[in-house]
Amino acid sequence: MQLRRKGTHSLRRVIPRFLQGSMRAELQFPQLSDASPDPVLITNTKGQIYYVNPAWEKLTEYTFDEVKGKSPRLLQSGKTPRKIYRTLWKRLLKGQTFSTDEIINKKKTGQEFQVHATYYPVKNGNKIRFYVQMFHDITHRKTIEKQKDAFIGIASHELKTPITTLSAYSQILEKRLDEKISEHDKYFLKNIKKQTDRLNGLINDLLNVSRLESGKLEFHFREFDLNALVQRVVVDFQYTTDTHVITKIGSIQRNVLGDENRIDEVLVNLLTNAVKYSPVADKIMIKLSNDKKFATVTVQDFGYGISKKDLPHIFERFYRTKDKDEGKVAGFGLGLYICAQIIKRHKGKIWVESRKGKGSRFSFSLPLVNSD
Ligand code: ADP
Repeated sequence: MQLRRKGTHSLRRVIPRFLQGSMRAELQFPQLSDASPDPVLITNTKGQIYYVNPAWEKLTEYTFDEVKGKSPRLLQSGKTPRKIYRTLWKRLLKGQTFSTDEIINKKKTGQEFQVHATYYPVKNGNKIRFYVQMFHDITHRKTIEKQKDAFIGIASHELKTPITTLSAYSQILEKRLDEKISEHDKYFLKNIKKQTDRLNGLINDLLNVSRLESGKLEFHFREFDLNALVQRVVVDFQYTTDTHVITKIGSIQRNVLGDENRIDEVLVNLLTNAVKYSPVADKIMIKLSNDKKFATVTVQDFGYGISKKDLPHIFERFYRTKDKDEGKVAGFGLGLYICAQIIKRHKGKIWVESRKGKGSRFSFSLPLVNSD
């Protein structure tokens, strides 16, 4: 049996005696791992390292001799969220595998690296014999993602100031010239305002998404009346559209716990989409209800609808459907992603029911106060 790895250490030495013989299949695992381009580490049930492959040595800059018998904790940087390790151990002890993108480790030199890690227990019958960790280095991808998020944050921040100024000046002009200009010119001014508002909305989406990614989107939770908020949003929103009539039905019996401004954003986003994606319809329904624990708000339109294949992806970041009509509508595919993240932070739910050509019903629920 070829269990010797070039130059460094013999695999026969690192595989416990109990595995040699009865568990030939498992014995082949380190042999295969030697050839793996991805780093592999094996520990015994006491959490001591007894095998690492050459790719692991290359990534971490530790040699096998330096780490054998030690705990893989020597790699920990303190930057991996604690809950990841808690979930990991819960899963492993139940004999289940666990994968995550959130492990940030450090090399022997102290340099950090991030990995997509898969952990799994190897059993003999019912008994766990050892644990395998497989890493895939994603440091480069994560760095690029962070740079991209930082760029989006800076760019949208810089774009916001001129747009806000343009919007304010066009509003002032509209008021000052109201009596003195022709209907034509009023139409032009109104359009400047409308387009700057749209730009503002797009920039806000970009800003929000970059704050979400960097964990800087602030939330101020307090008890509030969702009926009153929906009423206010509907009245304000109705001013911005002369193509659709918004009808509110139902009510919620108790206050909810949440960030009123963020829920305002969710409602405006859903109503904006309801208008954008139903150009030939003329009504939008907004329905309020509650059960014992949750308040639910549903925004229903009678427009394009969403096909079955798109439904599972609709709340994903940058997701836009590829349909011809919807393609003509401007957007980044961020609005619903932001809504979903906001509702998630409230420990609520967001979902959609829709049929192509029949319109859509977007709903979200929020916990009522005094419900556990
Ligand atoms: P955006 O509208 O900026 O593209 P969203 O995240 O708000 O981004 O929406 C993602 C996609 O979901 C849209 O591009 C559209 O294809 C689809 N969509 C959202 N709301 C509706 C709706 N009410 N009716 C039909 N399609 C919708």
